[in-house]
Amino acid sequence: MTDAVSGTPSPEERLILLLVGAVGAGKGTQATILSREFGLPHLASGNLFRAAMAAGTRLGEEAREHMERGELVPDEITIGMFIEELAKPHAARGAILDGFPRTVGQARALDDTLASHGERIRRVIYIEVPADELVRRVAGRWICPTCGTPYHETADPPRVAGICDKDGTPLRQRDDDRPEVVRARLARQVPPMLEVVDHYERAGIVDRLDGTQPIDAVTQDILSHVGSEARS
Ligand code: AMP
Repeated sequence: MTDAVSGTPSPEERLILLLVGAVGAGKGTQATILSREFGLPHLASGNLFRAAMAAGTRLGEEAREHMERGELVPDEITIGMFIEELAKPHAARGAILDGFPRTVGQARALDDTLASHGERIRRVIYIEVPADELVRRVAGRWICPTCGTPYHETADPPRVAGICDKDGTPLRQRDDDRPEVVRARLARQVPPMLEVVDHYERAGIVDRLDGTQPIDAVTQDILSHVGSEARS
């Protein structure tokens, strides 16, 4: 990590924000907006796994079997992959973290790595949405297989139905967005996610937001919490 940040703003100035929320809570949508707003990369562990699967790497194949069952990919695989990504030059000024850490083990590994460089997560934004609403939302969700931009049939449609606004790629539904896999993802992934929220509550850096509000209102809530951090 030291090499990756050399010659760039000092580590203390890296703005690292973490978005936490269950599948369908709107993390990806908000991370895309914040990434534009702050000029920081959006690092999504799910997107990294999907890219590894598309590239046919060993890591991708190992991740696939867990993802298809709606399970978390084991920490041994996930931690190394994500921390390596965070050390790349594109994250030298900071990053919006989406989907990592998702277990307390991942959170501790991330905290330790950051602390060894005098860094820390600045804020954790927890986007809360009730489970029924999550399943309903995910059923209408489409994603660009090229750039990973998420859309929603009604809440956030692309300009042309079925086509990515950014690169014109036909959109597709993710295999793991099928209702039975979504229910499995919620059952397996919400408890460890709540432990991650507790872990950061202890550090006093969590902001809880009502994720049932319209997208713009959620963004405004987030900006009101982290805006001053971004400017500091
Ligand atoms: P997402 O796109 O964030 O919904 O992630 C899709 C799938 O990738 C999840 O259902 C998990 O199987 C896997 N995954 C993503 N991030 C993590 C993580 N931090 N730890 C373990 N598994 C993950």
